[in-house]
This record gives sequence, structure tokens and C-alpha cells, in this order.
Amino acid sequence: MIIMSKVKDAYKEIEGIIGSDYISDKDFMKAAYSRNVDPAFPDRWADIIVRPESTEEVSEIVRIANKYKIPMVPRGGGADLVGGSVSEGGILIDLTRMNKIIEINEKDYYCEVECGITWGALLSELQRQGLTTGVLGPGSGYSATIGGGLSNSTAGFGSTKYGVIPDICLGVEVVLPNPQGTIIRTGAAANKYAKPFCRYGVAPDFTGLFMGDVGTMGIKTKAFLRLHPETPFKAQRYYMLKKNDYNKVSELMYKLRKEIRDGLHDVLVIPVIVVQLLAGMVENKPVKRPRLKGPVFSILVESTDERVLDVYLEQIENLMKDDARPFEWQEIDPEEPLSKDWEFNLKYAYHYFNKFISVNPPKISCTTCHKVPISALPKVANLSNQFDINYRDEFPPQSIALFATVIFLLPNGNCVVVGGFNADNIDEQREKSMNMWHKKLRLQVRYGGVHYWLGEAISQSIVEANAYTPEFIQFFKDMKKVVDPNYLLSPKKFHMYSYDNDITQNIIKNEE
Ligand SMILES: Cc1cc2nc3c(=O)[nH]c(=O)nc-3n(C[C@H](O)[C@H](O)[C@H](O)COP(=O)(O)OP(=O)(O)OC[C@H]3O[C@@H](n4cnc5c(N)ncnc54)[C@H](O)[C@@H]3O)c2cc1C
Repeated sequence: MIIMSKVKDAYKEIEGIIGSDYISDKDFMKAAYSRNVDPAFPDRWADIIVRPESTEEVSEIVRIANKYKIPMVPRGGGADLVGGSVSEGGILIDLTRMNKIIEINEKDYYCEVECGITWGALLSELQRQGLTTGVLGPGSGYSATIGGGLSNSTAGFGSTKYGVIPDICLGVEVVLPNPQGTIIRTGAAANKYAKPFCRYGVAPDFTGLFMGDVGTMGIKTKAFLRLHPETPFKAQRYYMLKKNDYNKVSELMYKLRKEIRDGLHDVLVIPVIVVQLLAGMVENKPVKRPRLKGPVFSILVESTDERVLDVYLEQIENLMKDDARPFEWQEIDPEEPLSKDWEFNLKYAYHYFNKFISVNPPKISCTTCHKVPISALPKVANLSNQFDINYRDEFPPQSIALFATVIFLLPNGNCVVVGGFNADNIDEQREKSMNMWHKKLRLQVRYGGVHYWLGEAISQSIVEANAYTPEFIQFFKDMKKVVDPNYLLSPKKFHMYSYDNDITQNIIKNEE
């Protein structure tokens, strides 16, 4: 329990460091920061909200938090879907004032930025200089930050080719949550004489310790990121499968990866049910009723040479022709542009899959996005659908569960299944939703699914599913103890509440 007199003392000390404009314990501020985009959770109010401007200020805040033993949670854009960047009591550290671009090195293709910068701000500047990070941040759009992307192992536009956000990371500057508020730099930057131009070599890959950590291992203040010259030629094509068959989806993903390789920028598969839902939502429906038989493959290719792009498009046509037909979104919505007229721009990149995941926005959404090998797709689709049937009475009334609203090819034979279920956004449905959410996540963990934004809901479900060996749990605790001896940063994630707490008590046994 946090003692309020200590919070008051800490407030005064932090105010002395960052100034009274950037600290608050007012109710309206606590309310404003009480949620992410995850309405299954109740509101959670921090005791203090701080908005530091520099790494040194973050370090001072960490020292003060340690002095008074007050927990802390870091926050970027707050676009988390799983309770990651809110804090019940304690100090919520909003990093969005740390939004500077420190260096864009166009010759050596890397940049150094503060972690609170948004994808919108960074990519707009890079585009002016003909550069890109390749993967362009999450589907949540402009306001998410680089720090959030690194901490959530975010996948997004460009991930089929460029991987997830940690894949473009060459190192970070981190404030460790220890009593000293120690500042370290990783990657090439661990060599104090070197520029941050590469990740591996100086020491073990300590960058990895902070990737996908959902803010449990340190507060990332700067990031060094890989850059690429913008690729001049891009084209987008759509194909609808003749049958609703996940064996075919997996087979075609494999063939695309094998034949088109680096030419593939993004491959998305939109299940037929989502296409049907979207067709139903169109206001000015087409005169001809669309024939919607199978999932839609949305394939984006890129090349530095227009002739090569044409070869890719021809190869794709050949590869798809037996099992699919060319598709245009105009078939369901006459206002949609034709694929031949498609042009890449940042606005498109930010909204590239919003329409597929926001089919019912004013609801509680319990996302279950996870990665599986492409060969496992048919099996996991089946298991997931069977789960929804078996437990239909346990879902909140009128809830819609979807195995996938979109499936997204990542590097090698790895794909993200973006899915979940929803419920009415009312208090009475929150507990029921939360229970079913954890149950479904446990199923996915047990069939070998790998989640990435873990926040609270997912990190806890992994523990409940008994995924970690006792040796791994011990290692994890030992590593955390080194950086966070007082156990103050992001408590509750992974069902870890203190070092003495036995997290295996949370394992749910006797569940299929
Ligand atoms: C409509 C919608 C679409 C989405 N699409 C995608 C998608 O395509 N792919 C995807 O991966 N995610 C997606 N998300 C989830 C989320 O938006 C992303 O994961 C995003 O990268 C989070 O960034 P953020 O800055 O908002 O982070 P926050 O929500 O602020 O934080 C996320 C986590 O990172 C930690 N954190 C944040 N900054 C730091 C820091 N500097 N140091 C240490 N820890 C930190 C927080 O404690 C928290 O656990 C989507 C969300 C929505 C609402």
C-alpha cells in the first residue's frame, strides 16, 4: 500500500526538479490518464502524473520514487490495448515531452530520437529527407510513440518486410529503475567513443532486455533506429480466394514468401466474414450484389526499379490464379479507389488496417492478437472457432468473437493473427469480458501462440497458462532484481507483485 504522506513528499521533491507545470495530482488529470484504449479495464488513477523533459529528469524522478518506495509506470501515446500504460496509484511517467530528433544520419542510415516522439512526427521529418524506418509504427496511428513501439514489440505497416519495431532498433538509452536512477546506453552506443550505428558487438545484446518488456525493465529515453532510403516504386493488389480455406491461406503465404521474398512489403489476409461485415456497413451499396466467397489477400510490393515491380506483379498473378481471383474494394463500395490507382502516402500507411479492426468501435474490445507459424493457421483457426462455440454461454451477451479480423505476414514464416471479441461497454459486462479474455488468451498460449503487446491482461494470461518453466521465472526475477531492486517499475504485469510473490499461484489448472 502506498502511504499518502510519502506521495506528498515525493510530489514536492519532483516538483522541485521538473517545475510545477509538468506535475499534477489533480482529479481531472488523473481521470485523463486513467485509461488506454482498453475499456474492459476499470478506470485506474495514478497518484501523480509527471511529464519530464530530459533523461536526467527521468533519472531524478526514479531516485525520488525509490527513496519513498512509490511504484512507477512509463507511458508513451497511451494507445495500449491491454492495460499497459496506466497506473493504479503511484507515479505515471508521461514521456511525450521527450520528443526531439537528435540526429538523422542520412549517410550511415540511422537516427537518434527521444522515445516520447510520435511516429507521426518522426516519419514526417524522415519523408522530407527521402528516408524511412521501413516499418512505420502501429495501426493505432500518429500519436503512438517510438518508446511504446519498442516496449510492445509492435508490428505495423511494413512489418512483412522490415519486421517488428525492435528489429529496427540499434540500441537504446535507458534509465534503470534502481535507487541511483542509473542511465545506460546499449548497442554500439555502449562504446562511449562510438556512434550508435549498429546493434551487436560491443557487449552482449542488452538492447534485447528492454525490447518487448512492456515497461518492466527500464524507462527508455532515447532510441537509435535503422533507416532506409525510401523505395520509389510500390504497388498494391487484391485477390479473393475462391473458397474460405485456411489451408490455402497458409499455402499461398508460403509461396509468396518463397517466390517474391524482399519484394513483399506487406501481405494482409482479410477473412471473408470481415469483408461481409464491411460490405454490410457501406451506405451507398453497389448495384450488383458482390460475390464474397473467401478471404481477401492484400499484397503490397515495392522495388527500386519499376520493371522489377512489374515482374513481381506478374509473378503474383501467376501464383494466385488457380486459387483466387483479382478483387477490388469497389465490388463492395463504389467509392473505393481501384488498386491500379493506389498510391503510397503516410496517411494511407497510418490507416492501412483501421477499417478491418474497428468494425464496432463503441464496445469493450478484448484483443487477442498473437503470432503463429503460417503452417499452424488452419489448426489454430479451428481451435479458436471451437473455443467460441464451446464457451458461447460464458461470453457477454451479444458479444462477437472473431478468430481474425486480419492476418498479417511477418518475416520468415511467421504471421500475426489480429483478432478478439467485443461486448457492450457497460460496467456489468467488464468482469465477464475480462474472465473470457484471459481464458481465450490462455488457449492461444497453450496452442503455442506468441503474443507481443503484453501489458497486464496478456502477460498475466501467459503466467496463468503455465507457459514459463520455474527456471525461466527465476531467471526473469533475477534479471529484474538487478535493474529494479525495490520492485517499483510496472508492478502487476506478469502477475509479479513483489520478489517474494510466487507467481505460479496464478496458474489455472485443469483447463483444456
Ligand atoms: C486502433 C489500434 C490499433 C493498433 N494497432 C497496432 C498494431 O498494428 N500493432 C501493434 O503492435 N500494436 C497496435 N496497437 C497497440 C498499441 O497502439 C501499440 O502497441 C503502440 O506501439 C503503443 O505505443 P504507445 O506510445 O501508445 O505506448 P503506450 O500505450 O503508452 O505504452 C505501451 C507499453 O509500453 C510501455 N512504455 C511506453 N513507453 C515506454 C518507454 N519510453 N520506456 C519503457 N516503457 C514504455 C508502457 O508502460 C506500456 O506497457 C493498436 C492499438 C489501437 C488502439
